[in-house]
Amino acid sequence: LPSSPMPAPRITVVGTGYLGATHAICMAIMGFEVLGADIDPNKIELLRDGRVPFFEPGLPEKLGQALASGRLRFTTDFDEVAHFGDVHFLCVGTPQAAGSGAADLGYVEAAFTTLAARIARRALLVGKSTVPIGTAARLTRMIREISPIGSELELAWNPEFLREGFAVQDTLHPDRLVFGVESEWAESQLRAVYAPILGTGTPLIVADLATSELVKVAANSFLATKISFINAMAEVCEATGADVSLLAQALSLDDRIGRRFLQPGLGFGGGCLPKDIRAFRHRAEELGVGQAVSFLGEVDAINNRRRVRTVDLIRELAGGNLAGVRVAALGAAFKPNSDDVRDAPALDVARLLYLEGAVVTVYDPEANANAHRLYPDLNYAGSMAEAVAQADVVALLTEWEEFRQADPDYLAGLVRQRLIVDGRHALDASDYTSKGWEYRALGHPYQA
Ligand code: NAD
Repeated sequence: LPSSPMPAPRITVVGTGYLGATHAICMAIMGFEVLGADIDPNKIELLRDGRVPFFEPGLPEKLGQALASGRLRFTTDFDEVAHFGDVHFLCVGTPQAAGSGAADLGYVEAAFTTLAARIARRALLVGKSTVPIGTAARLTRMIREISPIGSELELAWNPEFLREGFAVQDTLHPDRLVFGVESEWAESQLRAVYAPILGTGTPLIVADLATSELVKVAANSFLATKISFINAMAEVCEATGADVSLLAQALSLDDRIGRRFLQPGLGFGGGCLPKDIRAFRHRAEELGVGQAVSFLGEVDAINNRRRVRTVDLIRELAGGNLAGVRVAALGAAFKPNSDDVRDAPALDVARLLYLEGAVVTVYDPEANANAHRLYPDLNYAGSMAEAVAQADVVALLTEWEEFRQADPDYLAGLVRQRLIVDGRHALDASDYTSKGWEYRALGHPYQA
């Protein structure tokens, strides 16, 4: 830590899921004293034991280092959390509410009120969860009523942009930091916490609470829109015989457009983009500006149609009927290098195939266990070879490196028929067609 006139703030991280566990571990690596807390005792037990409760490359090593440094501890005792921290990061989940597109803010409210009732000295509560615009202002009013120290307890918002699969890198070397603050003191506390990162020249935007909430949902909306844009073009390609891969390549050479998030395929999923764009639409409606973001409804619809269309491709390849067809579903996680199956397109496709009577065998290098919890009726294989054995159709649904690198000759020796649907445009079509495979991809022309 850089030397400063103030003692380094002591940090707590409330909610140790994907975001919170990463944040707590990285803050300790940066040199702070950190206490991580969760209501889930199993998670806390695992973390204390040096085991990360989910798959994230590089994080187990960092957890080991942080625990060994003696600067990182975990607890389920919120009195201890309140007593320990100068700056409290709140990283609890904001899932989609049952039966509507709105965000369920129950966890956030519970976490803020639990702490606000217990904190007895000047401290800063920093929200990191992704929330609808206006949440921070409402929480400020809520904690003011509860807190025994009144305005000595302040609130700030510090949205998080980390990507699963790159969580450590993104936390230690973010593209930018955004502080939503209402006082100079709050800003100074956040500057102290992020000093090691700001010291490397990371851009900082200091904003009001509403802007900081909006940055996160706007960023996710933009990314989702970019993905759905190219997938909408894929739909047009399918109707015209044009090739969406070549189209994407040509578009991306314009650096105003760029290459990233312009890959056509099965579309986005996971615990963030889908729920965030729905919650944004819902909140915009409440604010009377629903029209301004009504296009996000289209973005969502385009995305969902890709899942259905992937099932269509598999059915067409199988001869028009899926009953009894053996499908090897390669991938379950919503993206490679993650075991997260929340709103995973791959599993949605597997589920739809199963509902049409296909015999689906799923294999994911890391997400089988999570997928099994969600869909126990599907078959799960312990390896790619096992999943592919005797398959009528192979469907690549999450673009893990293992699947990209697979040898079409080797796979040909395992399957019953050489039929493959590349749901992620992850393979070289000619590698497969030259080995006698029938290859299909969304927005990719073929001779019937
Ligand atoms: P998660 O479900 O993995 O973790 C949430 C954790 O909070 C769980 O461990 C849960 O037990 C705990 N929790 C719930 N209520 C609690 C309470 N009252 N006190 C203490 N702990 C409590 O979710 P996540 O993926 O880490 O996401 C958390 C938030 O961060 C969400 O708002 C999400 O949108 C946002 N976010 C996530 C990512 C990501 O890549 N996962 C990136 C940026 C932002």
